[in-house]
Amino acid sequence: MFRFTTSLLFTFTLFLVGCQPANPENVSENTPEQESGTPAYAIALHGGAGTITRDRMTPELETEYRTMLNAALDIGEGILQAGGSSLDAVVATIEHLENSPLFNAGIGAVFTHDGRNELDASIMDGRDRNAGAVGGVSIVKNPIKAARAVMENSPHVLLTGIGADGFAILQGLDTVPNTYFFTQKRWDGLQEVLEAEEKSLGAIDFPDSKYGTVGCAALDLNGNLAAGTSTGGMTNKRYNRIGDSPIIGAGTYADNKAAAISCTGHGEYFIRNVVAYDVVARMLYQNKSLQEAAGELVYEVLPASGGTGGLISVDRFGNVAMPFNTEGMYRGYAKAGERVVAIFKDE
Ligand code: ASP
Repeated sequence: MFRFTTSLLFTFTLFLVGCQPANPENVSENTPEQESGTPAYAIALHGGAGTITRDRMTPELETEYRTMLNAALDIGEGILQAGGSSLDAVVATIEHLENSPLFNAGIGAVFTHDGRNELDASIMDGRDRNAGAVGGVSIVKNPIKAARAVMENSPHVLLTGIGADGFAILQGLDTVPNTYFFTQKRWDGLQEVLEAEEKSLGAIDFPDSKYGTVGCAALDLNGNLAAGTSTGGMTNKRYNRIGDSPIIGAGTYADNKAAAISCTGHGEYFIRNVVAYDVVARMLYQNKSLQEAAGELVYEVLPASGGTGGLISVDRFGNVAMPFNTEGMYRGYAKAGERVVAIFKDE
């Protein structure tokens, strides 16, 4: 036991040494046949919401984003078309986005105040509302896989920090030095914020350099829903801050009776408004459609308290809603014969 603990600590040390610094197009509704029970699949994803405008984007970068969103949809849709589970589709889709430096999840995650990367992720199974999440992990290559391992191989829902990293090692998941997550763009983003903070002589609110959280919701051919979210959190976060992404009910929720949801935006507001669960609650207790319920949260509840962001969601019939109250949101969905990938507000 002692030897095991020592070697675990040694493994940690090895890794830690490397540390451094509403618009109608966003809704897709099904035909009555699908609502009466014809098997259907659907998948929706996001790559973060924020001040994403055409004038802040080069054509090359825009193409890169669209290509990556399409590639991630291809992976998830392929699994669903082949009769795979919504859980598998959600994990594989998110893993692909985590492995892209374009997004604030996995490699490309934003930096903490101390110049590190701390990652959060969660997943939920709509069949039984089983769920798993990790917060503040620093050496797990794909946090969404760690979230799934917590759900499937532990009696817990949320593990954090060094304990969650250790659990991932024991689960045999791929681990990396913290420097693996480094990208110049995110590093520069942190420096800008730190400079602004110094000029304003105090902590400033989280800036818009944070977008890029990824998430996915899916319905499989067996009628099972699942949702997951993965993020580096917000630039310049400190004190081991954890946002909504690993909080079941806030950033992620799935229930076969209603819908699967993944959120993105200023996490504190999503936690306080229990956004993902409230979409489902409105559907179940007020008999609202997914579109109505999701729209109320994003266009009414969140703005009333100053919350910015959006969500992507799929209901039990395969309807999709992707509302957001920011300038843009990287997003897309796919179902039989239908595919949408969009970035800006006017698409
Ligand atoms: N919701 C994430 C957080 O607060 C950030 C984001 O989605 O942009 O950590």
